[in-house]
Amino acid sequence: MAEVQIDLEAEKKEILKRYRLLLKSCRRMMDKNDKVMIRKAFDLALEAHKDMRRKSGEPYIYHPIAVAQIAVSEIGLGPTSVVCALLHDVVEDTEISLEDIRIRFGQKVVKIIDGLTKISGVFDQTSSLQAENFRKMLLTLSDDVRVILIKLADRLHNMRTLESMRRDKQLKIASETLYLYAPLAHRLGLNSIKTELEDLGLKYTEPEIYQEINQKLINTQKERNRYINKFSLPIINSLTEAGMNFDIKGRSKSIKSIRDKMKKQGVPFEEIYDIFAIRLIIKCPLEQEKSECWRAYSIVTDFYHPNPDRLRDWISTPKANGYESLHTTVMGPDGKWVEVQIRTERMDEIAEKGYAAHWKYKSVTSETALDEWIEKIRELLENPETNAMDFLDDFKLNLFSDEIFVFTPKGELKTLPFNSTVLDLAYEIHTHVGNRCIAAKINNKLVALNHVLNSGDQVEILTSDRQKPIEEWLNFVVTAKAKSKIKEYLKIEKRQKSEEGREMLNKRLRQLKVTINNDNIEKLREFFGLPSVFDLHYKIAVGIIPIKSIKDAIDNDGAVKSKQPLKKAEQKTLEELVSNARGKSDMLVLGEDLNKIDYKISTCCNPIRGDDVFGFVTLNDGIQIHRVNCPRANELMSNYAYRVVKAKWTDQEKISFLTGIKVTGTDQVGIVNNITKIISNELNVNMRSISFDTNEGIFEGTIMVFVNDTNHLTDLMKKLKKVSGVIKVNRIDSN
Ligand code: MN
Repeated sequence: MAEVQIDLEAEKKEILKRYRLLLKSCRRMMDKNDKVMIRKAFDLALEAHKDMRRKSGEPYIYHPIAVAQIAVSEIGLGPTSVVCALLHDVVEDTEISLEDIRIRFGQKVVKIIDGLTKISGVFDQTSSLQAENFRKMLLTLSDDVRVILIKLADRLHNMRTLESMRRDKQLKIASETLYLYAPLAHRLGLNSIKTELEDLGLKYTEPEIYQEINQKLINTQKERNRYINKFSLPIINSLTEAGMNFDIKGRSKSIKSIRDKMKKQGVPFEEIYDIFAIRLIIKCPLEQEKSECWRAYSIVTDFYHPNPDRLRDWISTPKANGYESLHTTVMGPDGKWVEVQIRTERMDEIAEKGYAAHWKYKSVTSETALDEWIEKIRELLENPETNAMDFLDDFKLNLFSDEIFVFTPKGELKTLPFNSTVLDLAYEIHTHVGNRCIAAKINNKLVALNHVLNSGDQVEILTSDRQKPIEEWLNFVVTAKAKSKIKEYLKIEKRQKSEEGREMLNKRLRQLKVTINNDNIEKLREFFGLPSVFDLHYKIAVGIIPIKSIKDAIDNDGAVKSKQPLKKAEQKTLEELVSNARGKSDMLVLGEDLNKIDYKISTCCNPIRGDDVFGFVTLNDGIQIHRVNCPRANELMSNYAYRVVKAKWTDQEKISFLTGIKVTGTDQVGIVNNITKIISNELNVNMRSISFDTNEGIFEGTIMVFVNDTNHLTDLMKKLKKVSGVIKVNRIDSN
């Protein structure tokens, strides 16, 4: 390896240059004392980190300077935050103690540094947090909301410099950013930071898609500019004539939101019509803002016809995060819909930087104005009931994308499809782990194999050498890998069983003095009415065909009986089966003797415990259980009355039944979340799958769940009906 010569002199110069730029950015709000403190903080950080370098090879001090710079120029924080940003990694990574900081910088600074140190501690150790816990943690660890804002600045700089990290670290940090930090930035109204975090997150989690969209945006830039100019020209002329002071620009959607749209609508890049929006930024005094924006709206719509459904007035009623703007979609040249955003310079700055931009518009240079909006943020975070509700929704919406990410106890990240269970994860880790999986611990709580995982869960798989895959597992796993590995195991097991059955049969045939040859075995297969010799062997091994019953197929002289005439055989066997099924009480009791009676829940009406049911005896398929109101019930009862067996359920067995529920309602924010919350909070209800379709404000959800009986199901449906926005809840009769 060639030795890299580092020009220390040049580096020192560069450090000072960056520091001076930082000072320049906060000059406006700094007094003499602040300047002294910032210098002290810089000197201390420089000294403390002097032997440290970042993964990129750069001096470590670049990082705290950059974080401070972001805090000032992109979030709008003041001198105290600059001091804290400069010192944010000092206590964690160097010899300097919190006590040192207290002595030199006082109580306010030490509290913030303490919060920052604790937050990173939490992240490094557990690697995973539920959104709700994340919010709580932020609140408890940070008496001062500046902790959160500096943490965001820190994360933004780390994302900007993620290139030099290891791939697994990149993935973990990027996922965490998408899952926790970007929604947080959004909630705080830090729009440009949110957008950048999202795009950078995408760049590392889905590099191919990111590059593809990025390249296409570059390729179509010229064409887009031409169109924007064509669109803007008449508006510019008219606004100028009206004597307005303004700025007009075409802004592309973020890469992440283009990707989300492509995914959601299932269309390629080329078919997204609102790749860009026109932004009209008006300069005017505060008291004229509203009227000036509407005047501009009126001029725009003189040239282009607006879509009345797409008018959004966030000037009269600003969004909870402080966003103010007037949005309209108009029919532009060449028959293209174009979104136009009209706002004032002040509104624009707040939209991009959040409330932090406010202080600029109040003629105060101290930090008191800043304190005001910090207080405001605190209110937003502390109050999940009222308008801060979408903060939580934003977090939880992430849970409904089609992928989730979970962490192993070591903090390793695993991506799985939505609705994946503990068992899916186990197979994802290793086939051997999947095959022996018995349960898991999620955030230290014990959960079953079929427990559906949530994004952010930290999952420890528990295994046992005595465990082995069973057919039932196929009912709840969702990944192709888990399915194929379970099937593979069952196939091998079946083959082994079949081999055992072959030996059992041959032994028995020898006892009965029957010649063992293909011809006789084939006759036996036919006698028992099975599709293959393999099945014959298997059914003998597992006892479905008792070894004793082989004798029934053998004549006194040791020859295998030929198969009896079909009709007679069927009648006889059916009669037998029917009388077996009725038993002593003339009634088939379901769930009482699961092993003795071979019955199947029919898929045409999906009965569950508690439904009125009857049994229908079939020759090869055991007894089918149908609901009395099954669409096929009339046909079966009238044509094959002799094969119908009365049936009822016992309530002794604890078996789960898979059933479907259809939920219809108006499309409201958070509704999906409320529905799944009810289902997952219900005791013993396991969700197998959930899918939602929305059309013109109406959504229709199909939920497959495991329930114990009809009472259980009715109870669940009643609760779902109470969810605000839900109109109808139906049981699905067939699937
Ligand atoms: Mn840092």
